[in-house]
Amino acid sequence: MSLPKRWASHLLQLGTWVAAALVLGATFGRPGWWLAAALAVWLAATLYKLYDLDRVLDGEQARSIVTTSGLWAELLARVVRYKDKAAARKKKYHRLLREVRESTGALRDAGVILNSQNEIEWFNVAATVLLGLEPQRDIGQRIDNLVRHPDFVEYLKSASDRVIYIPAPKDPSGRLSVQVIPYSRRQRLAIFRDVTHEYRLERTRRDFVANASHELRSPLTVFGGYLESMLEDSEIPSTWDGPIEEMQRQVDRMTRIIRDLLELSRLESMEGQASHDFIDVTGMLKTIGKELSQAVPGLTLELDLDESTALLGEETQLHSIFYNLMNNAIRFTPEPGRVDVSWKRIPGGAYFEVSDTGVGIPEELIPRVTERFFRVDPGRSRASGGTGLGLAIVKHALHKHGATLRIESQVGTGSSFRCDFPSDRVVARGSARQAVVQG
Ligand code: ADP
Repeated sequence: MSLPKRWASHLLQLGTWVAAALVLGATFGRPGWWLAAALAVWLAATLYKLYDLDRVLDGEQARSIVTTSGLWAELLARVVRYKDKAAARKKKYHRLLREVRESTGALRDAGVILNSQNEIEWFNVAATVLLGLEPQRDIGQRIDNLVRHPDFVEYLKSASDRVIYIPAPKDPSGRLSVQVIPYSRRQRLAIFRDVTHEYRLERTRRDFVANASHELRSPLTVFGGYLESMLEDSEIPSTWDGPIEEMQRQVDRMTRIIRDLLELSRLESMEGQASHDFIDVTGMLKTIGKELSQAVPGLTLELDLDESTALLGEETQLHSIFYNLMNNAIRFTPEPGRVDVSWKRIPGGAYFEVSDTGVGIPEELIPRVTERFFRVDPGRSRASGGTGLGLAIVKHALHKHGATLRIESQVGTGSSFRCDFPSDRVVARGSARQAVVQG
C-alpha cells in the first residue's frame, strides 16, 4: 500500500521538525526538552487545526487551515466538497418531494397507503375531501375503522384487487369506486374515485328501463286478453285465425322480454350480495329437468346430481340461473341430441354444469354471449322463444352469489356452461335442513 502524497509530505514536515529539535538539543544541550517542546508545539498546532475543521463542519468560516497547504488544506477541501454535494442532494430531494406532494395533491382520486395491518401510513389531499380523513387524527388508524361499509371491510379481508363500489362516507347518496392494489412488499394502496355522476346516470337508465317495462305490462295484458277472446269468437271469420295466432305469439314474446328486462333491472338495482336462504339444489334441478324434458321428448336429458350438497342463496335467482342455462342447452341442441346436467361438490366449493351436443358458439363470440340482447343467430333465438337476456341475467345472478361462469364451446360439437360457487355458499343438504328445521 503506497502512502498518499499529502501524508508523505506531512510526515516529512514532522520529521524535519523533530530533526531540528534534536539539532538544537545537540547544539545547546538538553535534547529531551527540545524534543518535548517541539512535539508540544506540533500537537498544539494540530489541535487548533482540528478545532478549526470542526467549526467548518458547523458551517463557520475556517481561519487557520484555509491558508495552509498540504494535508489539512486537502482535508478541508474534501470536507467542503462533501458538504456541498450533500446540500445539493438534499435540495434535489426536497424539490422531488414537493413535486410528488403537488402532483398527488392535484389528483382528484383519493390515494391511501396501508401497512400490512391495514393501518393508514399516508394519504393525499383528495382523501381528506372524499373520505374526510385528517392527517393529525387518522395516520396510524385502521382504515376499516374509518370507512366502515361492510362490502369494503369484506373486500379488504379478501386481498382481491377487483374494483368495488360503496356509498360515499361523507354523502351516502354518492358512490365511490374502490380498488386496493399491492404497493410494496408490506404495503397496499387503496384508490377511491368519486363515481357519483356515472352512478346517477346509470341509475336513471335503469329506472327508465324498469319504469318503461312496467308501463308496457298492462297494455300487453289487455291485448293478450282481447286476442284470446277473438280466437274463441265464432263470428270472426276463420281466415283471421292465422294472423290472430301470430299476434298472440308476438304478444307472448313481448311479455317475456318485459319479464326479463324487469328481472335484470331488479338484479342490477339490488345492493350487496344475495341472501343466504337454504336451497335444495337437487330438488330444484329435478323439477326444472322434468318440466323441460316434457317439452322436447326427442332429446336426452341426463341429471348427475350430488344429493348431499345444497346451497345458501336466493331462490328466484338460483332458479333463474339453472332454468336459463338448461333451457338454452335444450333450445340450441337439435334432436336427437343430449344434454347433461351436473351438480357436484369439489374442494373449495361446488359447481353446476350444463353440457350439450348442440350448435355451439364461435370462439370469438363466447365473451359476448352474456351481453344484453346479443345473439349468435338472432333468427334461431327468436324462433325458439329467446329474449336475448337470459345469459345477462345468469351472469348478474351468479355475481350476486360470488360465483363465476365458465363457457366452453365448439361450433357443431356443443357447449358447456359451468358455474362455480364459493365454499361459503355450499352446505351439506342434511345438516342445512336440520339447521333450518331447528331455526
Ligand atoms: P337467448 O334468449 O337468445 O337464448 P341468451 O342470453 O340466453 O339469449 O343467450 C344469448 C345467445 O347465446 C343465444 O342467442 C345463443 O346464440 C347463445 N347461446 C346461449 N346458450 C347456448 C347454447 N347452449 N348453445 C349454443 N348457443 C348458445
